[in-house]
Amino acid sequence: MPSMKKTSVKFIFITGGVVSSLGKGLASASLGAILQARGYKVKLRKLDPYLNVDPGTMSPYQHGECYVTDDGAETDLDLGHYERFTGVPAKKSDNITTGKIYSTVISKERKGDYLGATIQVIPHVTDAIKEYIVSDINNEDFVLCEIGGTVGDIESLPFIEAIRQLRNELGYDKTCFLHVTLLPYINTAGELKTKPTQHSVKELQGMGIQPDILLCRSEVAIPEEQKSKIALFCNIKSECVIEALDSKSIYEVPISYNKQGLDSQICKYFKLGNQKKPDLSRWVKINNIEEASEGTIKIAIVGKYTSMIDAYKSLIEAINHGGLANKIRIKLKWIDSESLEGNKSDLSVFFKDVNGIIVPGGFGKRGSNGKINAIEYARNNHIPFLGICFGMQLAVIEFAKNVLNLKDASSSEFGNTKLPLVGLLTEWHSEKGLEKRNSDSNLGGTMRLGAYDCKLLDGSFIKSIYKKDLISERHRHRYEVNYELTSNFSNHGLIFTGMSPDNHLPEILEIPKHPWFIGVQFHPELKSKPFDPHPIFSSFVNASLNQSRLL
Ligand code: GLN
Repeated sequence: MPSMKKTSVKFIFITGGVVSSLGKGLASASLGAILQARGYKVKLRKLDPYLNVDPGTMSPYQHGECYVTDDGAETDLDLGHYERFTGVPAKKSDNITTGKIYSTVISKERKGDYLGATIQVIPHVTDAIKEYIVSDINNEDFVLCEIGGTVGDIESLPFIEAIRQLRNELGYDKTCFLHVTLLPYINTAGELKTKPTQHSVKELQGMGIQPDILLCRSEVAIPEEQKSKIALFCNIKSECVIEALDSKSIYEVPISYNKQGLDSQICKYFKLGNQKKPDLSRWVKINNIEEASEGTIKIAIVGKYTSMIDAYKSLIEAINHGGLANKIRIKLKWIDSESLEGNKSDLSVFFKDVNGIIVPGGFGKRGSNGKINAIEYARNNHIPFLGICFGMQLAVIEFAKNVLNLKDASSSEFGNTKLPLVGLLTEWHSEKGLEKRNSDSNLGGTMRLGAYDCKLLDGSFIKSIYKKDLISERHRHRYEVNYELTSNFSNHGLIFTGMSPDNHLPEILEIPKHPWFIGVQFHPELKSKPFDPHPIFSSFVNASLNQSRLL
Protein backbone atom coordinates (compact mmCIF):
# COMPACT_ATOMS: atom_id res chain seq x y z
CA MET A 1 0.00 0.00 0.00
CA PRO A 2 1.44 3.39 -0.97
CA SER A 3 2.16 5.57 2.03
CA MET A 4 -0.52 8.05 3.00
CA LYS A 5 -0.34 10.57 5.82
CA LYS A 6 -2.76 9.72 8.61
CA THR A 7 -5.86 11.44 7.42
CA SER A 8 -9.59 11.15 7.63
CA VAL A 9 -10.04 11.80 3.90
CA LYS A 10 -12.78 9.84 2.21
CA PHE A 11 -12.58 8.71 -1.41
CA ILE A 12 -15.57 8.54 -3.73
CA PHE A 13 -14.78 6.61 -6.91
CA ILE A 14 -17.05 7.42 -9.82
CA THR A 15 -17.34 4.94 -12.68
CA GLY A 16 -19.60 4.95 -15.72
CA GLY A 17 -21.54 2.17 -17.34
CA VAL A 18 -23.74 1.31 -20.37
CA VAL A 19 -22.64 4.14 -22.72
CA SER A 20 -20.12 6.95 -22.85
CA SER A 21 -21.13 10.64 -22.73
CA LEU A 22 -23.30 10.11 -19.66
CA GLY A 23 -22.13 13.39 -18.18
CA LYS A 24 -20.01 11.71 -15.51
CA GLY A 25 -17.81 14.79 -15.34
CA LEU A 26 -20.79 17.02 -14.63
CA ALA A 27 -22.17 14.50 -12.15
CA SER A 28 -18.84 14.42 -10.29
CA ALA A 29 -18.57 18.23 -10.35
CA SER A 30 -22.13 18.58 -9.07
CA LEU A 31 -21.57 16.09 -6.26
CA GLY A 32 -18.43 18.04 -5.33
CA ALA A 33 -20.49 21.23 -5.25
CA ILE A 34 -23.17 19.79 -2.95
CA LEU A 35 -20.64 18.29 -0.54
CA GLN A 36 -18.95 21.68 -0.48
CA ALA A 37 -22.33 23.27 0.22
CA ARG A 38 -22.48 21.06 3.33
CA GLY A 39 -19.22 22.62 4.50
CA TYR A 40 -16.83 19.86 3.38
CA LYS A 41 -13.51 20.49 1.68
CA VAL A 42 -13.35 18.64 -1.63
CA LYS A 43 -10.85 17.77 -4.34
CA LEU A 44 -11.77 16.25 -7.68
CA ARG A 45 -9.56 14.05 -9.80
CA LYS A 46 -9.83 12.46 -13.20
CA LEU A 47 -8.18 9.16 -14.05
CA ASP A 48 -8.01 8.80 -17.83
CA PRO A 49 -7.35 5.39 -19.32
CA TYR A 50 -5.81 6.55 -22.63
CA LEU A 51 -2.11 6.14 -23.40
CA ASN A 52 -1.30 9.80 -24.04
CA VAL A 53 0.72 11.29 -21.17
CA ASP A 54 -1.72 14.21 -21.24
CA PRO A 55 -4.38 15.40 -23.71
CA GLY A 56 -2.17 18.31 -24.85
CA THR A 57 -1.11 16.51 -28.02
CA MET A 58 -4.62 15.27 -28.90
CA SER A 59 -6.68 16.89 -31.60
CA PRO A 60 -9.61 18.95 -30.26
CA TYR A 61 -11.73 17.06 -32.81
CA GLN A 62 -11.02 13.86 -30.86
CA HIS A 63 -10.89 15.00 -27.31
CA GLY A 64 -12.53 18.41 -27.09
CA GLU A 65 -10.93 21.23 -25.17
CA CYS A 66 -7.61 20.85 -23.41
CA TYR A 67 -8.09 22.50 -20.03
CA VAL A 68 -5.05 24.24 -18.55
CA THR A 69 -4.42 24.56 -14.82
CA ASP A 70 -2.63 27.35 -12.94
CA ASP A 71 0.37 25.09 -12.44
CA GLY A 72 0.64 24.52 -16.18
CA ALA A 73 -0.87 21.07 -16.74
CA GLU A 74 -2.73 20.29 -19.95
CA THR A 75 -5.70 18.27 -18.75
CA ASP A 76 -9.05 16.73 -19.58
CA LEU A 77 -11.97 19.14 -20.03
CA ASP A 78 -13.75 17.58 -17.04
CA LEU A 79 -11.31 19.43 -14.80
CA GLY A 80 -12.95 22.59 -16.14
CA HIS A 81 -16.33 21.37 -14.86
CA TYR A 82 -14.77 20.59 -11.51
CA GLU A 83 -13.33 24.10 -11.18
CA ARG A 84 -16.47 25.83 -12.42
CA PHE A 85 -18.65 23.96 -9.94
CA THR A 86 -16.41 24.06 -6.88
CA GLY A 87 -14.08 27.00 -7.46
CA VAL A 88 -11.21 24.77 -6.29
CA PRO A 89 -8.25 25.32 -8.65
CA ALA A 90 -7.31 22.03 -10.30
CA LYS A 91 -3.68 20.95 -10.19
CA LYS A 92 -1.29 18.87 -12.26
CA SER A 93 -1.75 16.01 -9.81
CA ASP A 94 -5.52 15.96 -10.45
CA ASN A 95 -5.37 14.38 -13.91
CA ILE A 96 -3.77 10.98 -14.19
CA THR A 97 -3.51 9.05 -17.44
CA THR A 98 -2.33 5.56 -18.33
CA GLY A 99 0.45 7.26 -20.31
CA LYS A 100 1.63 9.14 -17.23
CA ILE A 101 1.47 6.01 -15.07
CA TYR A 102 3.40 3.87 -17.54
CA SER A 103 6.05 6.50 -18.11
CA THR A 104 6.59 6.74 -14.34
CA VAL A 105 6.81 2.96 -14.01
CA ILE A 106 9.12 2.54 -17.00
CA SER A 107 11.48 5.32 -15.94
CA LYS A 108 11.71 3.73 -12.46
CA GLU A 109 12.44 0.38 -14.09
CA ARG A 110 15.23 1.92 -16.21
CA LYS A 111 16.77 3.45 -13.11
CA GLY A 112 16.78 0.02 -11.46
CA ASP A 113 14.42 1.13 -8.71
CA TYR A 114 12.52 -2.16 -8.79
CA LEU A 115 15.63 -4.11 -7.76
CA GLY A 116 15.43 -6.78 -10.43
CA ALA A 117 11.70 -7.49 -10.16
CA THR A 118 9.62 -8.49 -13.19
CA ILE A 119 7.43 -5.44 -13.81
CA GLN A 120 3.74 -6.30 -14.07
CA VAL A 121 0.39 -4.56 -14.27
CA ILE A 122 -0.39 -5.97 -10.83
CA PRO A 123 1.27 -4.86 -8.59
CA HIS A 124 3.55 -2.28 -10.25
CA VAL A 125 1.10 -0.39 -12.44
CA THR A 126 -1.73 -0.62 -9.90
CA ASP A 127 0.64 0.56 -7.14
CA ALA A 128 1.61 3.56 -9.25
CA ILE A 129 -2.09 4.37 -9.82
CA LYS A 130 -2.81 4.10 -6.09
CA GLU A 131 0.16 6.32 -5.29
CA TYR A 132 -1.23 9.03 -7.57
CA ILE A 133 -4.72 8.69 -6.10
CA VAL A 134 -3.53 9.22 -2.53
CA SER A 135 -0.82 11.81 -3.32
CA ASP A 136 -0.98 15.57 -2.79
CA ILE A 137 -3.95 15.46 -0.43
CA ASN A 138 -3.93 18.14 2.22
CA ASN A 139 -6.83 18.64 4.57
CA GLU A 140 -9.62 17.64 2.17
CA ASP A 141 -12.61 15.77 3.58
CA PHE A 142 -13.46 14.16 0.26
CA VAL A 143 -11.47 13.24 -2.82
CA LEU A 144 -13.74 12.42 -5.76
CA CYS A 145 -11.99 10.32 -8.42
CA GLU A 146 -13.74 9.95 -11.74
CA ILE A 147 -12.56 7.05 -13.88
CA GLY A 148 -12.78 7.95 -17.57
CA GLY A 149 -14.33 5.63 -20.15
CA THR A 150 -16.98 2.99 -19.61
CA VAL A 151 -16.78 -0.07 -17.41
CA GLY A 152 -15.77 -3.00 -19.60
CA ASP A 153 -13.17 -1.07 -21.63
CA ILE A 154 -9.84 -2.90 -21.75
CA GLU A 155 -7.90 0.30 -21.03
CA SER A 156 -9.63 1.05 -17.74
CA LEU A 157 -9.04 -2.38 -16.16
CA PRO A 158 -5.89 -1.41 -14.18
CA PHE A 159 -7.73 1.62 -12.76
CA ILE A 160 -10.71 -0.47 -11.68
CA GLU A 161 -8.33 -3.00 -10.14
CA ALA A 162 -6.45 -0.22 -8.32
CA ILE A 163 -9.64 1.17 -6.74
CA ARG A 164 -10.72 -2.35 -5.77
CA GLN A 165 -7.41 -2.75 -3.93
CA LEU A 166 -7.78 0.67 -2.29
CA ARG A 167 -11.18 -0.35 -0.89
CA ASN A 168 -9.51 -3.36 0.72
CA GLU A 169 -6.64 -1.33 2.08
CA LEU A 170 -8.51 1.75 3.29
CA GLY A 171 -11.75 0.09 4.30
CA TYR A 172 -15.44 0.68 3.71
CA ASP A 173 -15.48 3.75 5.94
CA LYS A 174 -13.00 5.57 3.68
CA THR A 175 -14.17 4.52 0.22
CA CYS A 176 -17.46 4.67 -1.65
CA PHE A 177 -18.21 3.43 -5.17
CA LEU A 178 -20.64 5.50 -7.17
CA HIS A 179 -21.65 4.09 -10.55
CA VAL A 180 -23.34 6.29 -13.17
CA THR A 181 -25.56 4.41 -15.64
CA LEU A 182 -28.27 4.98 -18.20
CA LEU A 183 -31.87 3.78 -18.19
CA PRO A 184 -32.95 3.92 -21.82
CA TYR A 185 -36.59 4.82 -22.42
CA ILE A 186 -38.26 2.68 -25.09
CA ASN A 187 -40.92 4.84 -26.64
CA THR A 188 -42.94 2.11 -28.27
CA ALA A 189 -43.14 0.13 -25.02
CA GLY A 190 -43.49 3.30 -22.92
CA GLU A 191 -40.96 1.79 -20.51
CA LEU A 192 -37.62 2.48 -18.89
CA LYS A 193 -35.23 -0.43 -19.29
CA THR A 194 -33.08 -1.58 -16.39
CA LYS A 195 -31.26 -4.45 -18.09
CA PRO A 196 -28.23 -2.46 -19.36
CA THR A 197 -27.73 -1.16 -15.81
CA GLN A 198 -27.93 -4.69 -14.42
CA HIS A 199 -25.31 -5.83 -16.93
CA SER A 200 -22.98 -3.01 -16.23
CA VAL A 201 -23.18 -3.59 -12.47
CA LYS A 202 -22.54 -7.30 -13.09
CA GLU A 203 -19.46 -6.35 -15.06
CA LEU A 204 -18.21 -4.28 -12.11
CA GLN A 205 -19.01 -7.07 -9.66
CA GLY A 206 -16.99 -9.44 -11.85
CA MET A 207 -14.03 -7.15 -11.23
CA GLY A 208 -14.59 -7.25 -7.49
CA ILE A 209 -16.47 -4.00 -7.11
CA GLN A 210 -19.92 -3.72 -5.63
CA PRO A 211 -21.25 -0.21 -6.25
CA ASP A 212 -22.65 1.49 -3.15
CA ILE A 213 -24.72 4.09 -4.97
CA LEU A 214 -26.15 4.13 -8.50
CA LEU A 215 -26.81 7.39 -10.26
CA CYS A 216 -29.23 6.58 -13.06
CA ARG A 217 -29.44 8.98 -15.99
CA SER A 218 -32.90 9.02 -17.48
CA GLU A 219 -35.11 11.15 -19.71
CA VAL A 220 -38.20 10.44 -17.60
CA ALA A 221 -38.86 10.01 -13.87
CA ILE A 222 -37.94 6.54 -12.58
CA PRO A 223 -40.96 4.82 -10.96
CA GLU A 224 -40.39 3.38 -7.45
CA GLU A 225 -40.92 -0.20 -8.66
CA GLN A 226 -38.13 0.24 -11.22
CA LYS A 227 -35.83 1.53 -8.49
CA SER A 228 -36.66 -1.50 -6.34
CA LYS A 229 -36.03 -3.82 -9.27
CA ILE A 230 -32.62 -2.24 -9.92
CA ALA A 231 -31.82 -2.45 -6.20
CA LEU A 232 -32.76 -6.13 -6.09
CA PHE A 233 -30.78 -7.12 -9.16
CA CYS A 234 -27.79 -4.92 -8.41
CA ASN A 235 -27.51 -5.82 -4.74
CA ILE A 236 -27.93 -2.32 -3.32
CA LYS A 237 -30.50 -0.49 -1.20
CA SER A 238 -33.39 1.01 -3.11
CA GLU A 239 -32.75 4.51 -1.63
CA CYS A 240 -29.26 4.29 -3.09
CA VAL A 241 -30.71 4.18 -6.62
CA ILE A 242 -30.72 7.88 -7.41
CA GLU A 243 -32.56 9.41 -10.32
CA ALA A 244 -30.56 11.82 -12.50
CA LEU A 245 -32.94 13.42 -14.98
CA ASP A 246 -31.82 15.49 -17.96
CA SER A 247 -32.00 19.15 -16.96
CA LYS A 248 -32.51 22.42 -18.82
CA SER A 249 -29.35 23.96 -17.44
CA ILE A 250 -26.22 22.29 -16.10
CA TYR A 251 -26.36 24.63 -13.11
CA GLU A 252 -29.62 22.99 -12.01
CA VAL A 253 -27.87 19.67 -11.50
CA PRO A 254 -26.51 20.23 -7.94
CA ILE A 255 -30.01 21.23 -6.81
CA SER A 256 -31.69 18.29 -8.48
CA TYR A 257 -29.16 15.73 -7.14
CA ASN A 258 -29.68 17.15 -3.68
CA LYS A 259 -33.46 16.80 -4.08
CA GLN A 260 -32.97 13.18 -5.11
CA GLY A 261 -30.92 12.57 -1.97
CA LEU A 262 -27.48 11.94 -3.47
CA ASP A 263 -25.58 13.88 -0.81
CA SER A 264 -27.68 12.54 2.06
CA GLN A 265 -26.99 8.97 0.90
CA ILE A 266 -23.27 9.73 0.72
CA CYS A 267 -23.37 11.20 4.25
CA LYS A 268 -25.37 8.22 5.46
CA TYR A 269 -22.91 5.84 3.85
CA PHE A 270 -19.97 7.48 5.62
CA LYS A 271 -22.02 7.81 8.86
CA LEU A 272 -21.58 11.57 8.84
CA GLY A 273 -25.03 12.45 10.11
CA ASN A 274 -27.51 14.29 8.01
CA GLN A 275 -28.56 17.10 10.33
CA LYS A 276 -26.55 19.81 8.60
CA LYS A 277 -28.48 20.90 5.50
CA PRO A 278 -26.43 22.04 2.51
CA ASP A 279 -26.44 25.73 1.70
CA LEU A 280 -27.34 25.70 -1.99
CA SER A 281 -28.17 29.41 -2.18
CA ARG A 282 -25.36 30.00 -4.70
CA TRP A 283 -27.02 27.58 -7.14
CA VAL A 284 -30.54 28.78 -6.44
CA LYS A 285 -29.41 32.32 -7.23
CA ILE A 286 -27.84 31.26 -10.55
CA ASN A 287 -30.98 29.37 -11.55
CA ASN A 288 -33.18 32.30 -10.60
CA ILE A 289 -31.12 34.62 -12.78
CA GLU A 290 -31.24 32.14 -15.67
CA GLU A 291 -35.00 31.90 -15.38
CA ALA A 292 -35.56 35.64 -15.03
CA SER A 293 -33.23 36.58 -17.92
CA GLU A 294 -35.08 38.36 -20.66
CA GLY A 295 -34.06 38.90 -24.23
CA THR A 296 -31.36 37.22 -26.25
CA ILE A 297 -28.23 38.45 -27.91
CA LYS A 298 -26.28 36.62 -30.55
CA ILE A 299 -22.54 36.08 -30.35
CA ALA A 300 -20.58 34.66 -33.28
CA ILE A 301 -17.70 32.30 -32.61
CA VAL A 302 -15.39 32.05 -35.61
CA GLY A 303 -13.22 28.96 -35.29
CA LYS A 304 -11.85 25.87 -36.94
CA TYR A 305 -13.35 23.22 -34.65
CA THR A 306 -16.96 24.37 -34.91
CA SER A 307 -18.14 20.85 -35.77
CA MET A 308 -16.91 19.72 -32.33
CA ILE A 309 -18.15 22.33 -29.90
CA ASP A 310 -16.64 20.47 -26.91
CA ALA A 311 -13.41 22.01 -28.21
CA TYR A 312 -14.77 25.31 -26.87
CA LYS A 313 -16.31 24.03 -23.62
CA SER A 314 -14.89 26.64 -21.22
CA LEU A 315 -15.47 29.42 -23.73
CA ILE A 316 -19.16 28.54 -24.05
CA GLU A 317 -19.52 28.49 -20.28
CA ALA A 318 -17.64 31.77 -19.80
CA ILE A 319 -19.93 33.49 -22.34
CA ASN A 320 -22.94 32.12 -20.45
CA HIS A 321 -21.46 33.49 -17.23
CA GLY A 322 -21.22 36.87 -18.95
CA GLY A 323 -24.93 36.41 -19.76
CA LEU A 324 -25.66 35.72 -16.07
CA ALA A 325 -23.79 38.91 -15.10
CA ASN A 326 -26.00 40.89 -17.52
CA LYS A 327 -29.22 38.89 -16.99
CA ILE A 328 -29.49 38.14 -20.69
CA ARG A 329 -29.69 34.91 -22.67
CA ILE A 330 -27.05 34.21 -25.26
CA LYS A 331 -27.39 32.42 -28.54
CA LEU A 332 -24.17 31.30 -30.15
CA LYS A 333 -23.65 31.38 -33.87
CA TRP A 334 -20.92 28.95 -34.89
CA ILE A 335 -19.02 30.03 -37.99
CA ASP A 336 -16.43 27.81 -39.62
CA SER A 337 -13.61 30.24 -40.38
CA GLU A 338 -12.87 28.60 -43.74
CA SER A 339 -16.31 29.64 -44.93
CA LEU A 340 -15.25 33.30 -44.55
CA GLU A 341 -12.40 32.99 -47.00
CA GLY A 342 -14.35 33.81 -50.14
CA ASN A 343 -15.52 37.21 -51.28
CA LYS A 344 -15.32 39.73 -48.41
CA SER A 345 -18.50 41.54 -49.42
CA ASP A 346 -20.38 38.40 -48.40
CA LEU A 347 -19.31 38.75 -44.78
CA SER A 348 -22.37 40.76 -43.84
CA VAL A 349 -24.43 37.66 -44.64
CA PHE A 350 -22.68 35.93 -41.75
CA PHE A 351 -22.52 38.83 -39.33
CA LYS A 352 -25.53 41.10 -39.96
CA ASP A 353 -27.52 39.59 -37.09
CA VAL A 354 -24.70 39.20 -34.55
CA ASN A 355 -24.00 41.51 -31.61
CA GLY A 356 -20.46 40.40 -30.83
CA ILE A 357 -17.68 38.39 -32.47
CA ILE A 358 -15.16 36.10 -30.79
CA VAL A 359 -12.13 34.57 -32.45
CA PRO A 360 -10.99 31.96 -29.91
CA GLY A 361 -7.74 30.05 -29.47
CA GLY A 362 -6.58 27.85 -32.31
CA PHE A 363 -3.65 26.35 -34.12
CA GLY A 364 -2.37 26.27 -37.69
CA LYS A 365 -2.82 28.13 -40.94
CA ARG A 366 -6.01 26.46 -42.13
CA GLY A 367 -8.93 28.85 -41.72
CA SER A 368 -6.71 31.67 -40.41
CA ASN A 369 -7.53 34.02 -43.31
CA GLY A 370 -11.23 33.62 -42.56
CA LYS A 371 -10.54 34.62 -38.96
CA ILE A 372 -8.57 37.66 -40.15
CA ASN A 373 -11.54 38.62 -42.34
CA ALA A 374 -13.89 38.31 -39.36
CA ILE A 375 -11.60 40.54 -37.27
CA GLU A 376 -11.47 43.15 -40.03
CA TYR A 377 -15.27 43.08 -40.24
CA ALA A 378 -15.64 43.55 -36.46
CA ARG A 379 -13.10 46.38 -36.46
CA ASN A 380 -14.64 48.27 -39.38
CA ASN A 381 -18.26 47.74 -38.36
CA HIS A 382 -17.79 48.60 -34.66
CA ILE A 383 -18.97 45.18 -33.51
CA PRO A 384 -17.64 44.17 -30.07
CA PHE A 385 -14.68 41.88 -30.66
CA LEU A 386 -12.76 39.56 -28.37
CA GLY A 387 -9.68 37.76 -29.69
CA ILE A 388 -8.34 34.99 -27.49
CA CYS A 389 -4.77 33.73 -27.86
CA PHE A 390 -4.63 32.86 -31.59
CA GLY A 391 -7.48 35.38 -32.03
CA MET A 392 -5.29 38.08 -30.45
CA GLN A 393 -2.28 37.16 -32.60
CA LEU A 394 -4.43 37.33 -35.73
CA ALA A 395 -5.83 40.72 -34.64
CA VAL A 396 -2.23 42.02 -34.71
CA ILE A 397 -1.69 40.58 -38.18
CA GLU A 398 -5.03 41.97 -39.42
CA PHE A 399 -4.19 45.45 -38.14
CA ALA A 400 -0.74 45.34 -39.72
CA LYS A 401 -2.11 44.22 -43.09
CA ASN A 402 -5.19 46.38 -43.35
CA VAL A 403 -4.35 49.53 -41.36
CA LEU A 404 -0.57 49.78 -41.68
CA ASN A 405 -0.54 48.23 -45.13
CA LEU A 406 2.16 45.72 -44.18
CA LYS A 407 1.07 43.04 -46.63
CA ASP A 408 3.81 40.57 -45.56
CA ALA A 409 2.72 40.53 -41.92
CA SER A 410 2.36 36.93 -40.77
CA SER A 411 3.09 34.40 -38.04
CA SER A 412 6.02 32.01 -38.15
CA GLU A 413 3.44 29.36 -37.19
CA PHE A 414 2.42 29.48 -40.89
CA GLY A 415 5.97 28.95 -42.24
CA ASN A 416 8.87 31.25 -43.08
CA THR A 417 7.87 34.87 -43.37
CA LYS A 418 9.60 38.19 -44.10
CA LEU A 419 7.64 39.91 -41.36
CA PRO A 420 7.07 37.58 -38.38
CA LEU A 421 4.82 39.86 -36.33
CA VAL A 422 3.99 36.71 -34.43
CA GLY A 423 7.01 34.48 -33.82
CA LEU A 424 8.09 31.37 -31.96
CA LEU A 425 8.60 32.00 -28.25
CA THR A 426 12.16 30.96 -27.58
CA GLU A 427 12.72 32.29 -24.06
CA TRP A 428 10.57 33.35 -21.16
CA HIS A 429 10.71 33.41 -17.38
CA SER A 430 8.58 31.05 -15.34
CA GLU A 431 8.62 29.90 -11.72
CA LYS A 432 11.05 27.20 -12.85
CA GLY A 433 13.50 29.86 -14.11
CA LEU A 434 14.38 30.70 -17.72
CA GLU A 435 12.48 28.45 -20.12
CA LYS A 436 14.06 27.89 -23.54
CA ARG A 437 12.57 26.38 -26.67
CA ASN A 438 13.45 25.99 -30.31
CA SER A 439 11.71 24.63 -33.38
CA ASP A 440 13.03 21.10 -32.61
CA SER A 441 11.51 20.96 -29.11
CA ASN A 442 9.07 18.11 -28.36
CA LEU A 443 5.41 19.00 -28.88
CA GLY A 444 4.11 17.57 -25.58
CA GLY A 445 3.97 19.93 -22.60
CA THR A 446 6.40 22.47 -24.06
CA MET A 447 4.18 25.49 -24.73
CA ARG A 448 4.09 28.49 -22.40
CA LEU A 449 1.61 26.90 -20.05
CA GLY A 450 -0.25 27.91 -16.92
CA ALA A 451 -0.73 31.10 -14.94
CA TYR A 452 1.49 34.12 -15.53
CA ASP A 453 1.21 37.66 -14.20
CA CYS A 454 0.34 40.55 -16.45
CA LYS A 455 0.59 44.29 -15.68
CA LEU A 456 -2.21 46.53 -16.86
CA LEU A 457 -1.52 49.99 -18.25
CA ASP A 458 -2.80 52.95 -16.22
CA GLY A 459 -5.82 54.58 -17.77
CA SER A 460 -6.49 51.66 -20.15
CA PHE A 461 -9.92 50.23 -20.88
CA ILE A 462 -8.81 46.79 -19.72
CA LYS A 463 -7.79 48.21 -16.34
CA SER A 464 -11.26 49.66 -15.94
CA ILE A 465 -12.63 46.17 -16.63
CA TYR A 466 -10.41 44.29 -14.17
CA LYS A 467 -10.14 47.15 -11.64
CA LYS A 468 -6.64 45.85 -10.77
CA ASP A 469 -3.02 46.69 -11.64
CA LEU A 470 -1.76 43.14 -11.82
CA ILE A 471 -3.68 40.10 -13.00
CA SER A 472 -2.83 36.42 -13.35
CA GLU A 473 -4.25 34.43 -16.25
CA ARG A 474 -3.63 31.03 -17.83
CA HIS A 475 -1.66 30.57 -21.03
CA ARG A 476 -1.22 27.88 -23.65
CA HIS A 477 0.76 29.04 -26.66
CA ARG A 478 3.97 28.50 -28.56
CA TYR A 479 4.02 31.77 -30.50
CA GLU A 480 3.90 35.35 -29.29
CA VAL A 481 3.55 38.87 -30.70
CA ASN A 482 6.99 40.33 -31.54
CA TYR A 483 6.76 43.51 -29.51
CA GLU A 484 9.80 45.14 -31.17
CA LEU A 485 8.04 45.02 -34.54
CA THR A 486 4.92 46.82 -33.32
CA SER A 487 6.34 50.21 -32.27
CA ASN A 488 4.18 52.25 -34.66
CA PHE A 489 0.90 50.43 -33.93
CA SER A 490 -0.06 52.89 -31.18
CA ASN A 491 0.22 55.87 -33.58
CA HIS A 492 -2.51 54.21 -35.62
CA GLY A 493 -4.81 53.39 -32.71
CA LEU A 494 -3.92 49.91 -31.46
CA ILE A 495 -2.22 49.80 -28.09
CA PHE A 496 -0.82 47.06 -25.93
CA THR A 497 -2.34 47.64 -22.53
CA GLY A 498 -1.20 44.47 -20.76
CA MET A 499 2.42 43.30 -20.64
CA SER A 500 4.37 40.57 -18.89
CA PRO A 501 6.04 42.04 -15.76
CA ASP A 502 9.45 42.13 -17.54
CA ASN A 503 7.85 44.16 -20.39
CA HIS A 504 8.88 41.61 -23.02
CA LEU A 505 5.63 39.89 -23.87
CA PRO A 506 2.50 41.72 -25.02
CA GLU A 507 -0.46 40.13 -23.27
CA ILE A 508 -3.40 42.43 -24.10
CA LEU A 509 -4.25 44.77 -26.97
CA GLU A 510 -7.09 47.21 -27.40
CA ILE A 511 -8.33 49.78 -29.89
CA PRO A 512 -9.62 52.68 -27.76
CA LYS A 513 -11.60 54.27 -30.63
CA HIS A 514 -13.62 51.08 -31.15
CA PRO A 515 -16.63 50.43 -28.85
CA TRP A 516 -15.07 47.17 -27.58
CA PHE A 517 -12.06 45.62 -29.26
CA ILE A 518 -9.79 43.55 -27.05
CA GLY A 519 -7.30 40.78 -27.73
CA VAL A 520 -5.73 38.69 -24.98
CA GLN A 521 -2.79 36.31 -25.28
CA PHE A 522 -4.15 34.21 -22.40
CA HIS A 523 -7.36 32.22 -21.93
CA PRO A 524 -9.71 34.14 -19.61
CA GLU A 525 -12.44 31.55 -20.19
CA LEU A 526 -10.53 29.03 -18.06
CA LYS A 527 -11.05 31.01 -14.88
CA SER A 528 -14.69 32.06 -15.22
CA LYS A 529 -17.25 30.61 -12.79
CA PRO A 530 -21.06 30.81 -12.86
CA PHE A 531 -20.96 32.39 -9.39
CA ASP A 532 -18.03 34.63 -10.34
CA PRO A 533 -18.25 35.56 -14.04
CA HIS A 534 -14.95 36.65 -15.56
CA PRO A 535 -14.83 40.46 -15.91
CA ILE A 536 -13.76 40.28 -19.59
CA PHE A 537 -16.82 38.19 -20.46
CA SER A 538 -19.18 40.31 -18.34
CA SER A 539 -17.91 43.43 -20.08
CA PHE A 540 -17.93 41.87 -23.57
CA VAL A 541 -21.51 40.64 -23.17
CA ASN A 542 -22.52 44.05 -21.83
CA ALA A 543 -21.02 45.75 -24.89
CA SER A 544 -22.76 43.24 -27.19
CA LEU A 545 -26.04 43.94 -25.40
CA ASN A 546 -25.54 47.67 -25.98
CA GLN A 547 -24.74 46.95 -29.62
CA SER A 548 -28.00 44.96 -29.97
CA ARG A 549 -29.92 48.01 -28.78
CA LEU A 550 -28.44 50.04 -31.64
CA LEU A 551 -29.70 47.61 -34.28
N1 GLN B 1 -1.35 28.69 -32.22
C1 GLN B 1 -1.02 29.77 -31.35
C2 GLN B 1 0.26 29.52 -30.56
O1 GLN B 1 0.69 28.40 -30.43
C3 GLN B 1 -2.15 30.10 -30.42
C4 GLN B 1 -2.45 29.02 -29.44
C5 GLN B 1 -3.81 29.17 -28.80
O2 GLN B 1 -4.68 29.86 -29.32
N2 GLN B 1 -4.00 28.53 -27.66
O3 GLN B 1 0.84 30.45 -30.06
